[in-house]
Amino acid sequence: MATNKTFTMLKPDALENGHMGKILDMIVEAGFIIKAMKYTRLSEAQAKKFYEVHAERPFYGELVEYMTSGPIVAAILEKENAVADFRALIGSTDPAEAADGTIRKSYAESKGRNAVHGSDSDENAAIEGAFHFTASEIF
Ligand code: ADP
Repeated sequence: MATNKTFTMLKPDALENGHMGKILDMIVEAGFIIKAMKYTRLSEAQAKKFYEVHAERPFYGELVEYMTSGPIVAAILEKENAVADFRALIGSTDPAEAADGTIRKSYAESKGRNAVHGSDSDENAAIEGAFHFTASEIF
């Protein structure tokens, strides 16, 4: 089923490197409407919970440390076919493999520090959006 919403985070490397405005511009230019947005910093407990699906992976500790290393921008985005279209806009996990014109190709540092998150399914988009936003924060 095509969904209308996805969830994203601009990750600490993107903000540290001064790419927040340029990435938000790419998102809006691609036709996504911002339904909710906040500038925040994940606690260790929040980062562990958000990425708990990766708890057994060797990079989990590094991922939690990185995601709590500085502020992020979290947002809910709306567009027809939002999940798949946003994954196409951000590109492959590893920027070395990401297509030209994608956010990760343009702004990610590495496979770990890869600038942006995008939900991988409708179900996760709903879970991740609810993780960060209450109903009154979504417009
Ligand atoms: P995606 O974010 O593209 O959906 P995954 O769900 O596989 O990718 O991984 C979640 C996040 O974990 C990635 O975006 C990246 O920040 C980090 N990550 C994935 N693989 C590695 C790796 N091999 N080494 C370090 N960090 C990784």
